[in-house]
Amino acid sequence: MIVNMSERATDQEITHIIERIREAGYQPHVTRGVERTIVAAVGNGRRHEIEALQVAPGVETVVPIAQPFKLVSRQVKPERSVVNVGGVAIGGLGVVVIAGPCSVESREQLLSTAQAVKRAGATMLRGGAYKPRTSPYDFQGLGIEALKILREARDESGLPVVTEVMSTEDVDIICEHAEMLQVGARNMQNFALLRRLATINKPVLLKRGPSATVKEWLLAAEYLLAGGNNQVVLCERGIKTFETEMRNTLDLAAVALARDLSHLPVIADPSHGTGKQSLIAAVSRAAVAVGADGLMIEVHPCPERALSDGPQSLDFAGFEKVMRAIASPLRGVAVSAAPAEVA
Ligand code: PEP
Ligand code: MN
Repeated sequence: MIVNMSERATDQEITHIIERIREAGYQPHVTRGVERTIVAAVGNGRRHEIEALQVAPGVETVVPIAQPFKLVSRQVKPERSVVNVGGVAIGGLGVVVIAGPCSVESREQLLSTAQAVKRAGATMLRGGAYKPRTSPYDFQGLGIEALKILREARDESGLPVVTEVMSTEDVDIICEHAEMLQVGARNMQNFALLRRLATINKPVLLKRGPSATVKEWLLAAEYLLAGGNNQVVLCERGIKTFETEMRNTLDLAAVALARDLSHLPVIADPSHGTGKQSLIAAVSRAAVAVGADGLMIEVHPCPERALSDGPQSLDFAGFEKVMRAIASPLRGVAVSAAPAEVA
């Protein structure tokens, strides 16, 4: 349930509502907006006691939260959230580009990539240390050695780092080395991992599961917020469909939908979303057009030698081209009016 306070509600009245929500067996979550305060009653309590708050002083309306996800929803927090990752704001004005190799393979590979993507305009670095591979015989990542290389690359380039966490056991060590932790698509519903990540003081990048509905994805994010971590960025990385020409089908409408339903920033990953180098520029432009707050793009010094995801990785020149394509989405077409704002 949501208790919408009136514009003139006093601090005392708000505090009273918070106490009454607790008494009714719910957890109160307060969102102080520019104009008014919203107090959400989340959990499993005595609903009629919240409904009765309709007549409490300072209350404008009491309404049910329409969706199963609560703290993630825009009903609870209408203003968009901005997530700060080591000084880079995701969800504010502008599009954040996170670039780097699928896997950290060596010091030289990562340091040269960090410099190249920075030069081209990326503002965050990615690189896998613990890799979720379909086959147990494929390269599994360099683990702690990769984390150290990532930190060196961050120190040298100044680009904040995001890397994937696959297990609760690795959370502490990754927190020591990276600015943001990625939950990979295959772990979107690893609830033990989500519960653990809810307790850390680092932002989390939550990828959509290959077969997850938007509702399931947002409910996975709800685990993080309900457990106390509201620094969450969603990432659409493609879903399984009948199409076989592409590795996945990047669900661009889901980017727009997630931004409609949730206040959390949403980015798109055209690399895993298509599996094809040749499509990254076009699909990146499309993602920006539907309102993506950022892009995650795989870049490798020599894609043909990559230990994972070579076919979808861009080389340095290819990445520069994509950055130029994103910078000029109108491709030289002059417009007299400002483009419509994407809410
Ligand atoms: C990755 O980012 O390298 C990765 C494994 O992504 P996903 O979880 O989306 O497959
Ligand atoms: Mn990859």
